[in-house]
Amino acid sequence: RCGFVAIVGRPNVGKSTLLNHILGQKLSITSRKPQTTRHQVLGIKTLGPVQAVYVDTPGMHEEEPRALNRYMNKAATSALIDVDVVIFVVDQLYWTTADELVLEKLSKLKCPVILAVNKVDKIEKRETLLPHLDMLSKKRDFAEIIPLSALKENNLEPLEEAVGRFL
Ligand code: GDP
Ligand code: MG
Repeated sequence: RCGFVAIVGRPNVGKSTLLNHILGQKLSITSRKPQTTRHQVLGIKTLGPVQAVYVDTPGMHEEEPRALNRYMNKAATSALIDVDVVIFVVDQLYWTTADELVLEKLSKLKCPVILAVNKVDKIEKRETLLPHLDMLSKKRDFAEIIPLSALKENNLEPLEEAVGRFL
């Protein structure tokens, strides 16, 4: 099995960190899938029988009358065409209007969206996490909600396994 996985989210939530830690050394940039040309393929991770092609998306920005931001938004949105799974990355207890904008961009997508709640290593009061996850679960029918730390490589396996289930 093989499929495309897009990693989306507002700037600074840890998308690149997550990708780097998922891919580690096993990095490849070749794929025979036709979508490759339309995507910025970062790497292919093989996990058992599953090959996941990870795709970076430029950070989505608030709509601003600036050409660069308009371009970035367009590129980020077009990167979502033909993906099989989306990983939507957010920053631990923070939910902002920028996240709301990303959620809106994902609203028409039919493919599974996995919510990765990153940087949980920064949370001091552990008991605040569960109510927050509960709040997030009402935002959309997420395929999975996985709290993790990309930097500390905490809980990355459940994320990769979840991706594998949808490819
Ligand atoms: P991107 O803009 O979404 O690609 O975010 P980056 O991957 O560039 O990360 C933004 C900042 O968050 C960097 O300083 C990272 O080191 C930091 N960061 C990313 N993941 C984690 C994490 O799991 N825990 C902590 N504490 N910091 C993180
Ligand atoms: Mg980045």
